[in-house]
Amino acid sequence: MEKTKLLIIGSGPAGYTAAIYAARANLEPVLFEGFFAGVAGGQLMTTTEVENYPGFPDGVSGPELVEHFRKQASRFGTRILSEDVDSVDFSQHPFIVKGKKTTFEAHAVIIATGATAKRLDIPGARDGEFWQKGVTACAVCDGAAPIFRNRPLFVIGGGDTAMEEALFLTKFGSRVYIVHRRDQLRASKIMQERALKNHKIEVLWDSEIKFVGGDSVVTNVIVQNVKTHVKTTMEAGGLFFAIGHKPNTEFLQGQVELHPTGYIKVFNGTHTSVEGVFAAGDVQDHVYRQAITAAGSGCMAALDAERWLAEQGIGE
Ligand SMILES: Cc1cc2nc3c(=O)[nH]c(=O)nc-3n(C[C@H](O)[C@H](O)[C@H](O)COP(=O)(O)OP(=O)(O)OC[C@H]3O[C@@H](n4cnc5c(N)ncnc54)[C@H](O)[C@@H]3O)c2cc1C
Repeated sequence: MEKTKLLIIGSGPAGYTAAIYAARANLEPVLFEGFFAGVAGGQLMTTTEVENYPGFPDGVSGPELVEHFRKQASRFGTRILSEDVDSVDFSQHPFIVKGKKTTFEAHAVIIATGATAKRLDIPGARDGEFWQKGVTACAVCDGAAPIFRNRPLFVIGGGDTAMEEALFLTKFGSRVYIVHRRDQLRASKIMQERALKNHKIEVLWDSEIKFVGGDSVVTNVIVQNVKTHVKTTMEAGGLFFAIGHKPNTEFLQGQVELHPTGYIKVFNGTHTSVEGVFAAGDVQDHVYRQAITAAGSGCMAALDAERWLAEQGIGE
């Protein structure tokens, strides 16, 4: 079995930022970047232009930004393994972290496995079709892009996130349609009121999007009423999934306390319910979910881990 002072699980902005800080503090971190469990590099690998990450005034592509993170983490000596973590045992110390091929004994662990934005399998909205060419899962990230300006935009969902995303998109779109399968929204009363009061927003009740069409980008969608089965083709500039996220915490199997929604509970910065185990990024944050906030909490987790290790006399 291999040994390490600090093991980081996940290779998004949170994991790599934790690695940069930990490596510069001579903790010689080992980072599992994932393989099948999620895209190595995380959610940014699925997006094109990132325009809100500071330091890139002209924007940067998601994969290029991740490549920068990776290089910077490697430069200071992070050991990166292209493996998924299958299971962990935090009941003993040092902790046991089992990868697909390699098992580690680790004095401290940072979990930065992110979350996966849920999408529906709609013809035209898939990878290689109009995904990231007008179809996305993050209004705050992508809404301001020129392709969405003054165009009719469609938001799928009925919860608070859908209301929030629809309201945000009214700044850019000519009209915003909330497409909802039922005749009632799940969103809180206050969020519903805010959305329904906005003159740019219209709810398409009992409706589903059946097809996304376009040329180089989205130009239309087919909406079907689930009760009458009538299909209507509507002009569209963009489609936004707002049906929630799934935190990547299955492999933890009861080893740290989770919220009922599956997100990791953190206390006092990035500490989890297990001393010596820290969590950073979207896996513990269902509110902000941005690359910069994930990177920020990755930094916090590395500093928390470094202090904790020093208190145990395991620093250098
Ligand atoms: C379409 C889209 C566009 C976006 N655009 C922007 C934007 O423009 N600006 C912005 O700030 N934010 C954007 N975001 C949000 C941003 O991508 C996330 O907030 C950020 O990536 C979260 O970082 P993270 O490190 O917490 O997790 P993630 O990026 O989700 O990375 C998680 C990592 O964990 C790994 N992993 C998961 N399970 C395991 C396992 N069992 N073992 C090993 N590894 C594992 C995965 O492979 C991955 O590397 C966008 C998101 C989406 C979906």
